[in-house]
Amino acid sequence: MATVEQKPQAKANGRSNGGRATSTDHTSSRSTIPVENPATGEIIAEVQKVEAGQIEGMVAAARAAQPAWEALGYEGRARVMHAARSWLMENRDRMRRTIVEETGKTPEDAQLAEVFMVADSLSFWAKKAPKYLADERVRSHSPFLLGKKLFVRYRPMGVVGVIGPWNYPLLNCFGDSIAALMAGNAVVLKPSEVTPLSNMLMAEGMRAAGLSEGVLQVATGEGDAGAALVDHADMIMFTGSTRTGKRIMARASETLTPVSLELGGKDPMIVLGDADLERAANAAVYWAMSNGGQMCTSVERVYVEDSAHDEFVAKVVDKAGALRQGVPGEPGTIDVGAVTFPPQMELIEDHVRDAVDRGATVVVGGKRREGAGRFFEPTVLTGVDHTMKIMVDETFGPTLPIMRVRDAEEALHLANDTRYGLNSSVWTKDVAKGERLATRIEAGNTCVNDCVVNYSATEMPMGGVKESGIGVRHSAKGIQKYCNSHSVLVTRLSQKRELYYFPYSKRGTKLFERLMVLMHGRGRR
Ligand code: NDP
Repeated sequence: MATVEQKPQAKANGRSNGGRATSTDHTSSRSTIPVENPATGEIIAEVQKVEAGQIEGMVAAARAAQPAWEALGYEGRARVMHAARSWLMENRDRMRRTIVEETGKTPEDAQLAEVFMVADSLSFWAKKAPKYLADERVRSHSPFLLGKKLFVRYRPMGVVGVIGPWNYPLLNCFGDSIAALMAGNAVVLKPSEVTPLSNMLMAEGMRAAGLSEGVLQVATGEGDAGAALVDHADMIMFTGSTRTGKRIMARASETLTPVSLELGGKDPMIVLGDADLERAANAAVYWAMSNGGQMCTSVERVYVEDSAHDEFVAKVVDKAGALRQGVPGEPGTIDVGAVTFPPQMELIEDHVRDAVDRGATVVVGGKRREGAGRFFEPTVLTGVDHTMKIMVDETFGPTLPIMRVRDAEEALHLANDTRYGLNSSVWTKDVAKGERLATRIEAGNTCVNDCVVNYSATEMPMGGVKESGIGVRHSAKGIQKYCNSHSVLVTRLSQKRELYYFPYSKRGTKLFERLMVLMHGRGRR
């Protein structure tokens, strides 16, 4: 559906918003969407804009294509996924370059968290879908159902709308489509207008892998196209901001369309006095700065026990101060890339300024880099507290605020003092203590002596609590959510009438009363 015109001679983009639609509901009268390279400020492509009014037709085409796709069965669908994985490996350079150009991230970030993770997901869901969606036999506790056959069947919902963000354009858009497709659904995918190219390229790969027309379509539109998708699809998988997630849920309530929402995070890292500080510092710097900190599960704030605070900070300062930043080129040349989303720069600056105004100290970085492209220096702050935006609101940038705490209990209290609850981590050599603390954190996910790698345990549910979201990706739940569960009861051997059928009788009622008291009248057991 969508077409792209690559710009042979890229021109500098003079607009401060990277060509993004500026009206509050993210709509504009333009007919194409310019795609900017955030690291250079150049417009690298013009993509045909899909209007909100076209979404209904795309969903109808998906609905028409879905039954044949479902009829292929798990094996037939897995063949397409495996072919897509081979295509992705053969085209890995092209895909990596496309992601780097539209996001400004490093080739390493594009390779590990996007190309590799998507290839891994293609094989994971191809293998696991038949197991996770197999009929479930159920044994009932009810005496009335003795001898009856009960099972739950998972049936695809029809057309899934996947709405994704710009931070991991391939993983958080196409990546979420894989389980939906393997469950037998068709998908209409709405990438962020800021980063449509990698999903368009992947759609080309799916066609090359043998996916029929209409089963996966990319709607390269603005926010209003996403809103229209909520109206017409049978289910919505959304990754993005909490603000937009709430708008989607409100809109979906009009049609009672189920939603799964992966939203923002303010993920805490708790470093206890007995932690391996070298490993903890390495992890803090990597997971706060990786992908330029534009990760919903990145380390957004650190609490360090008093006895370890100064040594930990010294290590972090050394490591963060040595990071290389600049225009992504050959692999291995820079560590931290650009700020992908134009308004994000002002938000990061605002958080740092607010923290400094309230008494924090910038010990590394602290400002935007002058010159072409959109870069914010890797930044470490100390002396922070919860009166500062940088400790309570999602920053989504290369920032690492570190707070000194008295003990583990204070760290836990502060870690839970948030409206978010996505990922989190605890660092200590006392693993049993770490586990105890981990299970008291109010979050969907926690690592002990690690960060974020739980994301690659695709067998485990991955999702948020509080304002970080509803529903999970990964695990059996992460594919069952794309299905309606259908509970079937079969009576095989039967008498002409059941005890409770009409006509009611005194004897029958008495018999039932005796049975009821026998079951429930003997106190707690
Ligand atoms: P949004 O949540 O607004 O955008 C995510 C997706 O939703 C985009 O495809 C967007 O389209 C689409 N969209 C926008 N409005 C609607 C709507 N009313 N109905 C349906 N879809 C809609 O995120 P932003 O890109 O504006 O980023 C804002 C903040 O979100 C960031 O500063 C960051 O804090 C957070 N964020 C969190 C992410 C996460 O992984 N949890 C990922 C990215 C950002 P379009 O882009 O075309 O407007």
